[in-house]
Amino acid sequence: MALVVQKYGGTSVANAKRINAVASRVLKRRNAGDQVVVVLSARAGETDRLVKLGNEICSCPDPREMDVLLATGEQTTIALFCIAMKAMGVEAVSMTGYQAGIMTDGHFGQARISWIQTQPIMEKLHEGRIVVVAGFQGYDDDGNITTLGRGGSDTTAVALAAALGADVCEIYTDVNGVFTTDPNICSKARKLEKISYEEMLEMASMGAKVLHLRSVEFGMKYNVPIMVLSSFNDAPGTLVTREDEAMEKVVVSGITYNKNEGRVTITNVPDQPGIAAKVFRPIAAAEINVDLIVQGGSGIPGRANITFTVPKNVHEQTIRILEEVASEFENSQVIGDPAIAKVSVIGLGMRSHSGVATKMFDTLARENINIKLIATSEIKISCIIDEKYAELAVRVLHDAFELDKEFHAPESIKIREERE
Ligand code: ASP
Ligand code: MG
Repeated sequence: MALVVQKYGGTSVANAKRINAVASRVLKRRNAGDQVVVVLSARAGETDRLVKLGNEICSCPDPREMDVLLATGEQTTIALFCIAMKAMGVEAVSMTGYQAGIMTDGHFGQARISWIQTQPIMEKLHEGRIVVVAGFQGYDDDGNITTLGRGGSDTTAVALAAALGADVCEIYTDVNGVFTTDPNICSKARKLEKISYEEMLEMASMGAKVLHLRSVEFGMKYNVPIMVLSSFNDAPGTLVTREDEAMEKVVVSGITYNKNEGRVTITNVPDQPGIAAKVFRPIAAAEINVDLIVQGGSGIPGRANITFTVPKNVHEQTIRILEEVASEFENSQVIGDPAIAKVSVIGLGMRSHSGVATKMFDTLARENINIKLIATSEIKISCIIDEKYAELAVRVLHDAFELDKEFHAPESIKIREERE
């Protein structure tokens, strides 16, 4: 008998028909002999609707009360789901984050899980019930309801799987798994059978939206196998797991793009110790997340240009902050460019294979796509390009790295010791 945590996203529980379909799926799994903990999201569009309701009352709604409001989305689905299961004659029990013992810090709207009491869920499981937990929510030391940040139900599921020692965490969604790139813009995108936590982390942080970033971090830290699959069919999904040798042989496993960032440059800052700190301190103080950073000569001896990217929604704000910094230096200017995209190739095999960067640059050059910034990590190369070329870049890179073709590791050579 296995213990399985199954998480269903908003589209999987969007209406009565879907809720009944998912309930049957859960029942089937239970009847096969497994213990099942179900984690649910709010119905598709519900959290957006609730956010809007809060913002209609005032432009800056109180964060504690917003969490009380947002948490109702998941509370609705767990109740509806258990109503469906009980109507099928199955003993299911719904649990809010509080009832399930999911403790967090007190950062409303962006809380982090600090502790999970496993006893409340375990007791119900031992009574033979299917436990249905509200995703995305917990409670802090003072008993306040908290939420984990948009998309956070994945994190609830993987954290629960880790705490309960589940055999697998299955994340059900409306796509068949993790793809080599976004199938909406590249028809040759192929579903991956397996991907490592490291690659999935890079993909998630680069804008692939299948899994909440923090859920992958949990999976990696506690070694929880995560299966991403569709609740709309029975196709096998993608397993996110620890890397193995075969994975390292795949040089590039995915390509992502992100249009949510803008570029800013501050020119002619003095090229001396402490200047980068001076530039970035007020940006950090404004809680703006900086992504790629490049510093280079400005053409004037003793002066440098610093260029970096920030989320688009704070691009204007960043420019204003930098203009203040620039006013302290002679001839220093701030230049902004919001119409950029970041295209990244990701793969474990990059650690041991050379030539990936060259191939990427060659491929973009052949299409006359200018590269404005480059950044690399051990298993990723990112290029900043004009926003209008994002889709084209993804497609030509997908072709260049032959991601439409299934990779087969060379057959191992059979060796046998001969007897003399
Ligand atoms: N309902 C929440 C959201 O829409 C959490 C989730 O679905 O994962 O962000
Ligand atoms: Mg999601």
